Amino acid sequence: MPADVLFVGAGPANLTAAYTLAKRLKDAGREGEFTIMVIEKGKSVGDHILSGAVMDPRGMDEAWGKDWRARGCPVEADVVEEKVFNFTASDAKPLPFIPPTLDNHGNVIVALSKVVGWMKTEVEQLGVMVAEGQPAAEPVIHGAVVTGVHLVDTGRNPDGTEGDGFAPGAAIDAKVTVFGEGSRGSCTKILVDRLGLSGPNPQVYGTGVKELWEIPKGRIKKGTVWHSAGWPLPDSIYGGSWCYAQSDTCVSIGFVTALDGGDPETDPYEMMQRWKRHPLISGLIEGGTLVKGGTKTIPEGGWWSRPQSHGEGFLILGDSGSLTNIARLKGIHTAVKSGQLAGDVLADGLLKGDLSGKVLANYEKKLRASFIYEELWQARNWRQAFTKGFTLGSIHAGAMWVLGGKIFTDRLPIHGDAASMKKKAGDDHHAHHAQKPDGKTTFDKLTGVYQAGSVHDEHQPSHLKIADTSLCAGKCASEYGNPCERFCPASVYEMVDVPGGGRKMQINFSNCVHCKTCDILDPYQVITWTVPQDAGGPKYLGL
Ligand code: SF4
Repeated sequence: MPADVLFVGAGPANLTAAYTLAKRLKDAGREGEFTIMVIEKGKSVGDHILSGAVMDPRGMDEAWGKDWRARGCPVEADVVEEKVFNFTASDAKPLPFIPPTLDNHGNVIVALSKVVGWMKTEVEQLGVMVAEGQPAAEPVIHGAVVTGVHLVDTGRNPDGTEGDGFAPGAAIDAKVTVFGEGSRGSCTKILVDRLGLSGPNPQVYGTGVKELWEIPKGRIKKGTVWHSAGWPLPDSIYGGSWCYAQSDTCVSIGFVTALDGGDPETDPYEMMQRWKRHPLISGLIEGGTLVKGGTKTIPEGGWWSRPQSHGEGFLILGDSGSLTNIARLKGIHTAVKSGQLAGDVLADGLLKGDLSGKVLANYEKKLRASFIYEELWQARNWRQAFTKGFTLGSIHAGAMWVLGGKIFTDRLPIHGDAASMKKKAGDDHHAHHAQKPDGKTTFDKLTGVYQAGSVHDEHQPSHLKIADTSLCAGKCASEYGNPCERFCPASVYEMVDVPGGGRKMQINFSNCVHCKTCDILDPYQVITWTVPQDAGGPKYLGL
């Protein structure tokens, strides 16, 4: 199937790009002349979208027009009150001031899955084709030129052989393919690896667990925003929490654990459960109802971890392009802006009949002239500062922020997450003791899978590929104690006894919530996350 422009992933960056492009074509009287297609791996747009989220409206104002709210884009609340806490096990001390990076005055609380649902209806009205439930398996690359994607094969048996209903994945040929797949996009990963597009620093990630709670009235005011640092994380691990009041009786809460902390016991889901036991949080949610939950990774590396953003036949946007400003804990406004810039470049190219790599390079020029550059450049060494620990990192990063982004050294380096994991010796293995959940405010991982609504057809090959499973019971068990059993939030990886002796890895792939933590953190880098053939996965719409 041919397309003029193909967008891979229906997130805020790509939908904004499609909107900007289609609107420019309409304004030029050329609507209907070109095929603009968005493909989405989830069954519905929004199903695989998860974010906190407090949004800086600047991106929406500039890309969608100042009337975007009046036109129906869902906003849960305006931010009316903000606190930043330092947690200890029993206390929560509010900072006497709000650090400038966390100032949310004028920002809004949104459910991003609902926002992209609104964006979808807007782009469809402009003639953009949005194809849901169409997972792209890999980009099609000839030399250094991207010419589209292959969709995933369907109808394969669990052992990978062709079943009765087998159909090879269709190829979609496109003059330009735009990758906006979010964090650790699987096609973007292949593209960046194959063409050597990585930035000067490796990407580093945090894994965030989010829950939406209905709570009794009178505990929090609509529009309240809390952030916290500290307990239960040790000082050596970067991360923290959020609580956003979408209404007087509905809160989005969550906890982010950085993946470069080096500890093979790292368990972001368990960290979230522990954090909910804090008196401030348990007092907020006790007697309430967990409505939905989910997990995703966040690219934290920022400017120096950006892959090359453009090339012959392709652009890379949003989280796939490392545009999250982790100092501000925000990436929606930069994703949206990147979409607007890309849409403009694509419209210029289509209208002039020139979509060469030289024209697409204008995307990078525009990005560097936009607020994305202003923000990410000032925060370019932010995340690296925290590799010395949270306390020292806060002082270092704060000083750099005031001084424009650096002190003496520019670019501060950082190690990738998997490379940072330390081996553990002897009795340290399995030192991890998850606290028993109470089933009221804390839950086990299988309940988390249920809350994410994640479902996959069991009659298909596992979409989690382990290149060498002999590592699991041998080297990995002795060197790291099989950390995938802990860092996966959905109990996908399980070491089981083998009749007659020994142990082997069992992959419960149907639980997967598509967070990509395993693809990132597996210390031997033998796990590859691929798209499932049934377009299964979580159902985050509304979360
Ligand atoms: Fe996340 Fe990987 Fe577990 Fe799926 S298998 S939930 S992508 S860690």
